[in-house]
Amino acid sequence: MDRQAYDELKKVIDRHMELYYNEDAPMISDAEYDAMMRDLKEAEKEHPEWVTPDSPTQKIGGSAKREAGVKVTHNVPMLSIEDVFDTAEVTAFVSRVQERHPGCAFSVEVKVDGLSMTLRYARNTAGELALTLAETRGDGRIGEDVTANALTIPDVKRTLDLPYDLLELRGEVYMTHEAFERYNEKQEEAGKPPAANPRNLAAGTLRQLDPGITRERGLSMFIFNIQDGPEEILAEHTGAMDILSRAGVPVVFHRRCTTAMEVLDAIREIGEMRGELPFDLDGAVVKIDHTAWRTEFPAGSKYSAGHIAYKYPPEEKIVEMDEIITDVGRTGKLTFTGVFHDKDTGKPARLCGTSVSRATLHNQDYITEMKIGIGGWYRLYKSGEIIPRLNGCVREPAEVFTAPKNCPACGEPLVREADTADIRCINPDCPAQLVRTISYFTSRDAMNIMGLGETLVEALVGAGYLKNIADIYRLKDRRAELIEAGIIGKEKNTDKVLAEIEKSKTADPVRLLTGLAIRNVGVSTAREVMRHFDHLYDLTTASREDFLAIPDIGETTAEDLYGFFHRESNVTLLDELRLMGLNMKKAEEADAGEALAGQTVVITGTLPTLGRKEAEEYVRRNGGKVTGSVSSKTTLLVAGEAAGSKLTKAQQLGIRIVSEEELRAMCRTDTQED
Ligand SMILES: [Zn+2]
Repeated sequence: MDRQAYDELKKVIDRHMELYYNEDAPMISDAEYDAMMRDLKEAEKEHPEWVTPDSPTQKIGGSAKREAGVKVTHNVPMLSIEDVFDTAEVTAFVSRVQERHPGCAFSVEVKVDGLSMTLRYARNTAGELALTLAETRGDGRIGEDVTANALTIPDVKRTLDLPYDLLELRGEVYMTHEAFERYNEKQEEAGKPPAANPRNLAAGTLRQLDPGITRERGLSMFIFNIQDGPEEILAEHTGAMDILSRAGVPVVFHRRCTTAMEVLDAIREIGEMRGELPFDLDGAVVKIDHTAWRTEFPAGSKYSAGHIAYKYPPEEKIVEMDEIITDVGRTGKLTFTGVFHDKDTGKPARLCGTSVSRATLHNQDYITEMKIGIGGWYRLYKSGEIIPRLNGCVREPAEVFTAPKNCPACGEPLVREADTADIRCINPDCPAQLVRTISYFTSRDAMNIMGLGETLVEALVGAGYLKNIADIYRLKDRRAELIEAGIIGKEKNTDKVLAEIEKSKTADPVRLLTGLAIRNVGVSTAREVMRHFDHLYDLTTASREDFLAIPDIGETTAEDLYGFFHRESNVTLLDELRLMGLNMKKAEEADAGEALAGQTVVITGTLPTLGRKEAEEYVRRNGGKVTGSVSSKTTLLVAGEAAGSKLTKAQQLGIRIVSEEELRAMCRTDTQED
């Protein structure tokens, strides 16, 4: 397997791990997955230097992680509840039970849309009734041990102050709307796909390998049943809920009812709470309160006897599409928003107590599949009761919407990525992406312009000072104006930042190449590329084959490089930067000399711009000898941030200590004198 195939395999496995653990939607069999992992391990055995901490082989089996797939057979099967969709069926159920047991009570409860979990408590040697096992439902008879993750849920009590030796509780694990939104916001920031609904995300979160992730995402739980325990708590369901509640256990919202009328009222009450609940509602459960009678009303082997679940009709409206708005996000990705009205009222649609007039249309594939266009009619519902979604086309539009070919922000042609449904603007000067592009250019990994961070870049873009990367180097021409406006600060601060900008012109071209933010070209790739070119400008005349000939550069990266350097606007940018005096020439020729001849140099700490290897090369290029430890033979110590014992030792030995800047100054003087 070559490096590219290895990287590809890593990506594929990561995707399937994500599907399995985070989205709870595996797409391949365990056997196929195992075979891929075997191939990956094989390749890593052959090339141990390829292994990084993010390799899938490094993610599983760590001691801090939960062991995946430990199966547990439930003491009491975890069955589901038979659904009914009509209140008449509810009345019939109540009548059937009360015919045999007049005066029988029922508990009507909120059915949370999450996933079921059983908690087993047993008295331990310390005399506490402590949690010993948490199990997922699985197939109802055999589930998975998720104890480590359950313990991260604040609603799950580690110990219970109750006078029993054994207690088994069943409840629903769920994710609140707030936690769900928080997760999706983070996903969006990271450029990853959002979770479809709180239920799936809760399921994936509960089964995480790393309990730290479960804790961070935040799950909640309500108890709704006693699976096993002493008779005194088992006998009456609502009585048991009261006992648990007094012991501090969060129990599900419930109402004890004694007539069919009360049961229907409770169902209506829960239905009216729907829009206000902080979680998704899956219906209302009606269960016989006196647990011994439940078995007399079986509902089939799959279902719990003596229970029914009433499902509320989905809240849905038919809307007519008025407009489709396209926007460019900060990462260049095109987003689509549908604007519509309720076709019956002509106003925004009312759903779950809120007005809805727009919905995200995801991407072009979704739009095409859903036949979305102006004038079309669509079913609208609120998924997870919060996010409005279209759910099928009712009347097709005259024309299905197609994404524009050019960026709505800058007019440059848009690019559809081959492996995703995303359409992007890749123009680095696009105003929609400008703040991000420029702050990446000035960042530590790239040009390292101190003081010119994202906040300041945003202010300068906002005030019209920066329209592209080259404008950074034009700021000095507007010094007086900038000081007047006070955007950077007063005179002193403004000059400091302007000086940093000037200083960056001499940076290694690797930094400049990194700063151009070409897709797939980070610092290490940029360094590799510049090993094969003397001048950054030479990249504008390189062919695809030239890029492919560089070791470790695959076809995708070669294509990205070629595409970037053969785009006219980018060549213009490079021309401008070159005219402004930015260094594009490789260091070897620019700063080689004999300034350090006869010096034995030790480098310690983090240097502001040079990496360790770069610094060593720099010293050698200038005639010095690099050694690893400080001794009486050492003549020069180059010290950066967080220098430790070597610095102390050099001070003790009276060795000359210089910063990176001073080192460069020493070398520069020499080359100029030559
Ligand atoms: Zn654009």
